[in-house]
Amino acid sequence: MKTYLTILGFNSAIPTVNSSPTSQLLEMAERYFLIDCGEGTQVQLRKAKAKFAKIDHIFISHLHGDHCFGLPGLIASFRLLGREKPLHIFAPKGIKQMLETIFEVTQTHKGFEVIYHELEGHQSEKIFEDNRVEVYTIPLNHRIYCNGYLFREKPKDRALNMEEIAKYPEIEVCDYHHLKKGKDFTLSDGYVLKNEVLTNPPKPSVSYAFCSDTRYKEEIAPIIKGVDLLYHEATFLHDLKEMADYTGHATAQEAAQIAQKANVGKLILGHFSNRYKDKTVFLDEAKPIFKETYLPKALERVEI
Ligand SMILES: [Zn+2]
Repeated sequence: MKTYLTILGFNSAIPTVNSSPTSQLLEMAERYFLIDCGEGTQVQLRKAKAKFAKIDHIFISHLHGDHCFGLPGLIASFRLLGREKPLHIFAPKGIKQMLETIFEVTQTHKGFEVIYHELEGHQSEKIFEDNRVEVYTIPLNHRIYCNGYLFREKPKDRALNMEEIAKYPEIEVCDYHHLKKGKDFTLSDGYVLKNEVLTNPPKPSVSYAFCSDTRYKEEIAPIIKGVDLLYHEATFLHDLKEMADYTGHATAQEAAQIAQKANVGKLILGHFSNRYKDKTVFLDEAKPIFKETYLPKALERVEI
């Protein structure tokens, strides 16, 4: 099962005709994780033809509007579409008060349960785990409390080597489970077949780190070390470093430095200030430091 990232929006602050605020859909191990939910996210999900009824977990980095104002509308639409299953929201403390106030004042009856996981920690912590995926926080440095999120597939099962297995009629289908987990197989005459003979190594597990919004924060490098893909905000170019610091953001140069220090596979930049019409200037600044840097393409479903 492949992992896909669809960037639904990647601009900062005000939505415009051609750009939407931050939101991403991560499809990992058949789970649908929505990351941030700026205004208009549900429209972007529709444009991307995403099966958004499958979203059971939403991760919000911080409570600035361009990262969460899409939530009330999305949740109201879930209800209108007949949703019954619970929805988990991971977000900074305050999210429950914000949403429940809106639902109360507008007399919105959700019809399904919203389970809030309010975050307050300042160290990276595991906040979600099932049999195939783990999610960790990445504490960031913004104007208000803010986390990035690290999504990691757990190690996968080994792949059966059916050609080899077919040579041993003693191995039955009910034994496959143990073989996939790496166990050797003992034949009735006592001969031990090594697992490496009967199986091939598992497919690599994929990891993705989302980091928006933040000032340059070197401490995140060890947390995201070696991820396949890093999304890091780059609101400004480095000549506006002072402005970046003042507003709690990073520059393209700094995003590239983080990518390089963390030795990630690829870097996607985003959260660009609307002052930059031509986004290639961000690539020009980042690429000399980290070659595998890319610009996001809205609504494109990219395999990680
Ligand atoms: Zn912000």
